[in-house]
Amino acid sequence: MTPSHNSAAADRAAALVRPEIAALAGYVPGEQPQGGEWIKLNTNENPYAPSPEVAGAVTALLAGRTLAKYPDPVATRFREKAAEVFGVDPDWILCGNGSDDLLTILVRTFVGMGGALRVPTPSYILYRTLAGIQGVFCEEIPYERDWSLGSEFCTPTTAAGDPVRLAIIANPNSPSGTLIPPDAVAALAARLPCALVVDEAYGDFADANCLDLVRGSDRVIVTRSFSKSYALAGLRFGFAVAQPSVIRQLEKVKDSYNCDALSIAAATAAIGDRDWLRTNRATILATRARLTQALADLGFRVQESQANFVWCTHPTRPHRPIYEALKANRILVRFMHYAGWGDGLRITVGTDAEIDAFLTTLGGILAQA
Ligand SMILES: *Cc1c(COP(=O)(O)O)cnc(C)c1O
Repeated sequence: MTPSHNSAAADRAAALVRPEIAALAGYVPGEQPQGGEWIKLNTNENPYAPSPEVAGAVTALLAGRTLAKYPDPVATRFREKAAEVFGVDPDWILCGNGSDDLLTILVRTFVGMGGALRVPTPSYILYRTLAGIQGVFCEEIPYERDWSLGSEFCTPTTAAGDPVRLAIIANPNSPSGTLIPPDAVAALAARLPCALVVDEAYGDFADANCLDLVRGSDRVIVTRSFSKSYALAGLRFGFAVAQPSVIRQLEKVKDSYNCDALSIAAATAAIGDRDWLRTNRATILATRARLTQALADLGFRVQESQANFVWCTHPTRPHRPIYEALKANRILVRFMHYAGWGDGLRITVGTDAEIDAFLTTLGGILAQA
């Protein structure tokens, strides 16, 4: 087919769909090369295998007739286990097909026509995409230079006068790896006119989290992911913690069977293995410290991270050519550019061997004039 046919077909499809969808750029996930040997430091996956308990749970389930039946719509076994771990009742927990599914449910539940979503920038780009799909405005408030959020984040309406119906912060934030301390998050929640979602996809790597705020307020909702700290990005599992009255509203919006039987069994096994989580976290944090120091030694400005990645900028060398030269050596990092803000490199904490290979290659690239 010729390109002109393709573009005519694209125009026809664009005229058929909702105008909001036709206008949407669509979220672009980090590169996932299939096959070949890559050092992947671009999408914040855990470089280690998950808890061995996961394989046992999945294998046991495959042997029976479980997959012939629909899964438990509310993942009762997982919620009981997670409730035990976090010291809440199971009806405080909602499971999702990755925390992205939970973010979709949250935006659909809280933000309707004429309302707005508010998020900080630079942060997780998906928030804006979710608002776009919903056909609602996403107001992006720049972080202060120290990665805190000022009173501008809490005004009741957008600059255009639309009511803000939901706010989302990633905490720790991506790409910065910075954490807004729980007491500062509580202050934001108290001033906001709406519910606040604290996306703790990286919460297990941080010094503090906002789960206690949920106990004290029905306006704070925490989301967690199994993709980073549990080494299960391929599984697609996450959960939200909120007061039961809020969970009941969210349950109306989710797909009936949003989590499959295999992922529920695997996640239940994984969350039960607290020793695996502790050991893995300690390993990642030690490598993170080493990576942070080594990047500084190479002349980068490095942000102290509370997550499993590090954000850095170079005072003189442009970032895109560094990203491209690394890619030519089969090493993927994330080059991030935010309009009106600037760019930089986000580097996932890999294994020690991966980070050594990355640093050696990076040193070679910087040594070339
Ligand atoms: C990785 C990430 C997610 C997505 O997590 P999944 O559970 O894989 O859907 C959500 N929020 C942030 C900030 C992330 O970096």
